[in-house]
Amino acid sequence: MALGIYIHIPFCKSKCLYCDFNSYANQDGLKDRYVQALCKEIQNFPDDCEADTLYIGGGTPTILSKEQLEKILIQVKQKFTLTPDCEITVECNPATMGEDGFRHLRQLGVNRLSIGLQSANEKELKALGRIHTLSDFARCFQEAKTVGFDNLSLDLMHGLPNQTMEDWMHTLETAVAFQPAHISCYGLKLEEGTPLFQQNPPMPDEDLAGDFYEACVSFLKQHGYDQYEISNFAKPGMESRHNIKYWRCHEFAGFGAGAYSCLNHQRYSNGRDLSSYCQSIEQDGSAVEERIPLTIDAEMSEFCFLGLRMVEGISYTEFEERFGVSLENVYGETIKKNLRRETLLRLNDRLVIPSKYLYVSNSILVDFV
Ligand code: SF4
Repeated sequence: MALGIYIHIPFCKSKCLYCDFNSYANQDGLKDRYVQALCKEIQNFPDDCEADTLYIGGGTPTILSKEQLEKILIQVKQKFTLTPDCEITVECNPATMGEDGFRHLRQLGVNRLSIGLQSANEKELKALGRIHTLSDFARCFQEAKTVGFDNLSLDLMHGLPNQTMEDWMHTLETAVAFQPAHISCYGLKLEEGTPLFQQNPPMPDEDLAGDFYEACVSFLKQHGYDQYEISNFAKPGMESRHNIKYWRCHEFAGFGAGAYSCLNHQRYSNGRDLSSYCQSIEQDGSAVEERIPLTIDAEMSEFCFLGLRMVEGISYTEFEERFGVSLENVYGETIKKNLRRETLLRLNDRLVIPSKYLYVSNSILVDFV
């Protein structure tokens, strides 16, 4: 089966106040060295592999120069055979790329952009420390369309400090008015160590947070976006094929600082620090810090708790074909208990979490861990 490829670009113009991703501001001096190391890491991957999704995420990939992005994409194409329908996504921060840059990405074969809007309310964008305004986003979206991108995804966030239902609906309405192919909606979590966590702002209580989620599911449905995963919605046929690979536990290779891979029944991850990553690649050709063999138990568990995040759930037949044992044999008790509570449903060959429980799915999924 063809692989998914993930490439991590850990640079940002400035750090958003809520962000605990592996991304760094004010490290422009390292960009060339990093791209060089990234290309070497890709070059060192085994030959003759096919890939049908490529995702360049971050950080902010679109703050790299045209030449740097081109170098990476050329290196990927030299190493991997990309299928003719390969989904090639680049994450984009609205304030970091214009029409010229988008045209260049198109010429390089990029066919999908994931744009971080987060909120349509200026006060919320400020409170989150985002570097863009709504009009930056509108310009970015229009320019991307002008050069031919028709597979555009937006990231939104709910559960923001002081957010009201009216604020959230305004963001949803604004997002839908742009008619993107795909929308991801994540609830904000205050991560320890981030400036927003230190500020300890007033957050929506659990009930309101649940209401935001429900409003989002029903509003997007009314506007033609099918929910296909806890936080992801798409027009028919426009689901993120790359992300589906994660939830279906298909193999993928990650490159860059902090990136991880799942290949040949092993999970391995690179060190997160930028300079150490570059140094390790330069000296040893690899920055792998941790290599964990995946036991069959771990793989069965991942198959369930990742697969059940998806609205279509998991297939009894696929489980048995993959692991040589029936789902009932391994998780019979857990499944029975949840079927009784109606927190799981059996639909022919599939086991699914009913949509009204997706929001609290963690309490169900934990039984499969
Ligand atoms: S743009 Fe994304 S990765 Fe960069 S600081 Fe903001 S949230 Fe983090």
